[in-house]
Amino acid sequence: MTDDRDEIRQRTDIVELVGQRVALKRAGRHWKGLCPFHNDKNPSFIVNREMGRYKCWSCGAQGDIFNWVMETQRVDFSEAIRILADLAGVTLSRKGTVAPSRREAQEKAMADALAFFRDSLTKHRDARDYAEGRGLGGEVGDHWEIGYAPDVGEVLASHLQKRGHSLAECKELFLVDTDPGGGFFDKFRGRLIFPIRDERGQLVAFGGRVLGQAIPKYINSSDTPLYNKSKVLYGMHRAKSQIASTRTAVLVEGYLDVIACHRAGVTNAVASLGTSLAEDHVRLLKRWCETVVILYDCDTAGQKAAQRAAELIQSAGMTVRIAVLPEGNDPDTMLRNEGPGAVLSAVERTIPPLDFQIQQLRQRLGPNEEEFWREVVTILAGAPNHLELEKHLLPLASEYPGLSDPTAARSALLKMVTQAKKGRRPNQPAEDPAPILEPVTTLNLPGTERALFRAFIEEPTRDIVWPTIRESAMFSSQQGRDIALALSTAFPENPPTGHPSTWLHQIDSAVIQDHLVEIGLA
Ligand code: ZN
Repeated sequence: MTDDRDEIRQRTDIVELVGQRVALKRAGRHWKGLCPFHNDKNPSFIVNREMGRYKCWSCGAQGDIFNWVMETQRVDFSEAIRILADLAGVTLSRKGTVAPSRREAQEKAMADALAFFRDSLTKHRDARDYAEGRGLGGEVGDHWEIGYAPDVGEVLASHLQKRGHSLAECKELFLVDTDPGGGFFDKFRGRLIFPIRDERGQLVAFGGRVLGQAIPKYINSSDTPLYNKSKVLYGMHRAKSQIASTRTAVLVEGYLDVIACHRAGVTNAVASLGTSLAEDHVRLLKRWCETVVILYDCDTAGQKAAQRAAELIQSAGMTVRIAVLPEGNDPDTMLRNEGPGAVLSAVERTIPPLDFQIQQLRQRLGPNEEEFWREVVTILAGAPNHLELEKHLLPLASEYPGLSDPTAARSALLKMVTQAKKGRRPNQPAEDPAPILEPVTTLNLPGTERALFRAFIEEPTRDIVWPTIRESAMFSSQQGRDIALALSTAFPENPPTGHPSTWLHQIDSAVIQDHLVEIGLA
């Protein structure tokens, strides 16, 4: 097993691996980003390719590629080895004699279901015509892996069973369900199928849309062992590089909207599915960008959802812009009726959430109605900062009925807003956990010894300092002696070659390994 792990280490680039989940920027010898393990405001998370380690200077999270997979995918060590071996193209030496893990079996069932749905689409003319009519045929359909679930009771169930899958397991994956007689039937029937992948591109769920007008229009997987709907945004694996480079995400309502946006050239569009935006979604977005453009339907439900999403995103300290669509439009209908230009310009024509709320209010009420002013006060009380509030105060005050002096009206309005603010739950971003200013460390080395080990970590100088390190008794500090001794024990003949990521684990003591990581990451 040790050989397998070595091979995985050598073939895995930790920057690339972590970079699948966190937007990283080069900073000297390291790569830097927002820590995914705590609510990070300033990038305090670093990844170092040579050391093969990541570390957060704020919350203390740290580890190597195996820890990363265990932490971010919540799997045990042996599972992490399997996942990484898979990614690195390493064939595990004992594979075949070991029964596939539960997770492997689940992923296999999902992959088999997807292949089945894809194949079904080619066999059903009506579904294919429908998909083509919605712009989901040809290349687009292949790109988004659109499939079809036939309108028959249990074709998928028997297909999965034939392929050796346990239907009880498939039920947990939201692929099949049980009828009162104890038999299994397909969850998706007579629906166009949209595979849902997480930000790494792992297939985790399916969504299905009816071909006609039947109810419910959409069925999405509920939470399963592979899928947590609050943590997955549809389209993220295709959108993340564009999101990272523009530092902006476009948030839409469903998969058809995501696909329409991408087809129109808005390749940073994502959607939450069958659920309103959750805090975990926001945290996911925050790892990749600072600004979110919300592009929701302009019906009442869509606008309410937009408002809620805007508050959630703002309270995470991110910037929100609202794209206002012409009545009765969504990105999908716009693309079909007016072409890509209409979608592109909708994404560019955005306003701040406060302007959006006031615009909405004006459609329902006028300044001559008392209720208008009650709502204005509530809206203004939610202004993210004083500047935004000021921007609206005077123009609104000038509309206040009965008060001809705008300055007096302004102060009257401001007074009401200030009062309302007191009663309002503060909409402040959640605080970081108590910041640890100094990195947690037990390492206390004299500068010269630290510099010596630092030189040992770097390949070009390793051979030069090697003779000195072998004389561990010459070190003045106890810790320095311990590290030097551990190194000459681990490498009795010659110093190791290559980056620390490839030999660090050969040192017996985890404490000494951590000390070297700390020296290497400083
Ligand atoms: Zn952290």
